[in-house]
Amino acid sequence: MCGIVGYVGKNKAQDFLISGLKRLEYRGYDSAGIVTLDNDGKATLVRAKGKITNLEDKLKNNKKDDKIGIGHTRWATHGEPSEKNAHPHQVDKLFLVHNGIIENYKELKAELNEYDFKSDTDSEVLAALINSFYGDGKYPLTNAVVQALKLVKGTYGIAVVSELNPNEIVVARSGSPLVIGIGHDETLIASDASALLGHTKRAIYLNDGEVATVTANNIEIKTLNAEPVSAKVEKIETNLAAIQKGGYAHFLLKEIMEQPESLTETLRGRVNIEDGVVHLGGPGIPETELRRIKHIVIVGCGTAYHAGLLASYYIEQFTPEITVETVIASEYRYRQAYIPEDSVALIVSQSGETADTLACLREIKKRGVRTVGIVNAIGSTIAREVDGGTYVHVGPEISVASTKAFTSQVIAMVMFGLTIAQAKGVKNAIIRPYVTEISKLPEAIKEVLNEAEGTVRKIVKKYVSYDHGIYLGRDVAYPTAMEGALKLKEIAYVDANAYAFGELKHGPLALIDDRFFELALLPEGELYDKAVSNVQEVLARGGHIIAVTNVDKFDLSVESIIKINSEIKIFAPLLMNLVSQLFAYYMTVEKGYNVDQPRNLAKSVTVE
Ligand code: GLU
Repeated sequence: MCGIVGYVGKNKAQDFLISGLKRLEYRGYDSAGIVTLDNDGKATLVRAKGKITNLEDKLKNNKKDDKIGIGHTRWATHGEPSEKNAHPHQVDKLFLVHNGIIENYKELKAELNEYDFKSDTDSEVLAALINSFYGDGKYPLTNAVVQALKLVKGTYGIAVVSELNPNEIVVARSGSPLVIGIGHDETLIASDASALLGHTKRAIYLNDGEVATVTANNIEIKTLNAEPVSAKVEKIETNLAAIQKGGYAHFLLKEIMEQPESLTETLRGRVNIEDGVVHLGGPGIPETELRRIKHIVIVGCGTAYHAGLLASYYIEQFTPEITVETVIASEYRYRQAYIPEDSVALIVSQSGETADTLACLREIKKRGVRTVGIVNAIGSTIAREVDGGTYVHVGPEISVASTKAFTSQVIAMVMFGLTIAQAKGVKNAIIRPYVTEISKLPEAIKEVLNEAEGTVRKIVKKYVSYDHGIYLGRDVAYPTAMEGALKLKEIAYVDANAYAFGELKHGPLALIDDRFFELALLPEGELYDKAVSNVQEVLARGGHIIAVTNVDKFDLSVESIIKINSEIKIFAPLLMNLVSQLFAYYMTVEKGYNVDQPRNLAKSVTVE
């Protein structure tokens, strides 16, 4: 959450700061600001409520050639979105941008009682604290930052500059990502490498507990205990096209439509169709250990949690004598849950920075349980801290609502389950159908997307005025329904909930009336007839059913039908989920809401 940028070098800082913030806007967009310093240290601070375009408008009268500066796009945690709460925060000659939460800000604020705070944020408290150690420039800025951070509880990624030293930026992190880009006679800072694209491909990913003093030609990194760190320079793999809309109206539609390609990337080199097996190198678990695994705990939040739930249904189908439990990270981190011996934990996060998931990872590792990351963002904190992992390789996901990552997370976890099954000696006849379908999925996704897009777009129009949606499914279609409902809530702001069909008559059936529509996922299979009976129960009470089904002879007379024509059977729910994604997308477009940046949300939840 929130975007941080910084620049020191030979070019105009404002140019990079604004272009960088625009790239990071999906991480927070309730206010933004930048500060630059001229050669004498004179600061120009510009902040604006709302989107970056508001900041740009204000900057028109404040154009500067300054060669150093920092910027921020905010996702408010403490204090409403407003100009005074926007970052950078100024305290005397010092400016700070902060991503995260200072948990003990109240105590620290009470200690800093001589200072007249201008904002309601926790971040300004940190700025004032650093300033209190700075002694009007008597001490090095880096030392002041270190002294302050030693007193801080919480999470932070920060960048600090001072009018008294207009050549350097001090950055530090604990729990919030920070990347330092190395250019020619310039150094760039960003909370996400995508902001650096087009400027440099060489980057240093700061670790928790590290502080860097950065000038145009030098980067000095130390720990908070003043031990020097020799940082690894890594290559940024993403390219510019991956973070552009590429002709689509919205990133979300682009990301939905590119699932055939993104899933192909997930599968690359990992599926052997002839032998009907999968090969996952990343987890790095020796075969003897794989054979011993008895329990899998899958940890995630939001969409990643749903991906885990869906994967757990599959893994149980083909892996004998194994239990799979999928948990919500923000709950699990505070539970006293027992993790049995011979367990492995799958840590699922698109960004690899999700604060709650990261906290669970650390907790689980402490207990000596092996951890495997199912992560998209290369080099992210979770990816670096897990014992092993499988990158899903879907490329940058810019739209706040996750789509392509979900599909690939499910398949990556299923492949992990298949790896265990193979090691345990499960018959190839059981494994092969899964492998075969996985290999055919990208093509099937392409066909379904092409076919369903027009139908969904038309059908959505009928349901735009409904206040509530109920998503229904059984077995593998149930977690799929949960994910569909989440999509609708997060971007179309329609109150939508998912229920297992069997649960309807235990309560939710009472809701059915003309304010509700019911989206029923009805895949062919053993439980199809039972699900149909449940649909009848809804119809008998005047329900407005949209049936999504791959059953050839579907003959229920329901209000709307979206047919999936595909040879894919096992993973049909993943195809149905494409319909849910498109449904949420077109609903949002019809309602005229911001598709890629829904209100109150932001991508990559790096606060608890
Ligand atoms: N806690 C800080 C604030 O509310 C930073 C939020 C962010 O990460 O954008 O301003």
